[in-house]
Amino acid sequence: MPITTADLARFVELYADRLHAAREHLTALDSAVGDADHGINMDRGFSAVREVLPGLREGLPGALAKQVGMKLISTVGGASGPLYGTFFLRFGTSLGDAAEMTGADLATAVRAGLDGVIARGKADPDDKTMVDAMTPAAEALESNAASDLVQALEAAARAAAAGRDRITPLIARKGRASYLGERSAGHVDPGAASTTILFESLRDALGR
Ligand SMILES: [Mg+2]
Repeated sequence: MPITTADLARFVELYADRLHAAREHLTALDSAVGDADHGINMDRGFSAVREVLPGLREGLPGALAKQVGMKLISTVGGASGPLYGTFFLRFGTSLGDAAEMTGADLATAVRAGLDGVIARGKADPDDKTMVDAMTPAAEALESNAASDLVQALEAAARAAAAGRDRITPLIARKGRASYLGERSAGHVDPGAASTTILFESLRDALGR
């Protein structure tokens, strides 16, 4: 079954809901290793996104994703706005003018978004960033989104969570958390946590 603009809008709305619910949790994670604004920033950005969503439902999926990206870049300060904004911009660009997406198109779009995040944030694997949650999720989608989308979405959500947990013992080498040096070890990375929520929302919105 193809993925439509309405499906993508449902995903973005669910992600906005869950970021709002996780606002205090993400802020607490960021207060341990950063400047305590990650939950606030993500909630602010996706509240703004929610306002423009109704006008995007009738258009193309690529256009919706690009507008989400631009809204995030213009409303969210800190590192997370430009990074998530770039993810959605590249995701949308990858879809071009297609009216619908296949599972394979979704995997390609997520990979394009991840490549954008890496180019923008310059994070290497194991720097303890959102990239360490997003990379295994993208790989899970690439391995089977074309054959079994529901299973691929489940695998991607699990891979993101596993990536988030795998890097928790590591010392952060990017972003504010890196200023803490060894004291960053043992803390959950806030960006990896919000990326896990993204893939869980994608699973729950599209994995029907
Ligand atoms: Mg912060």
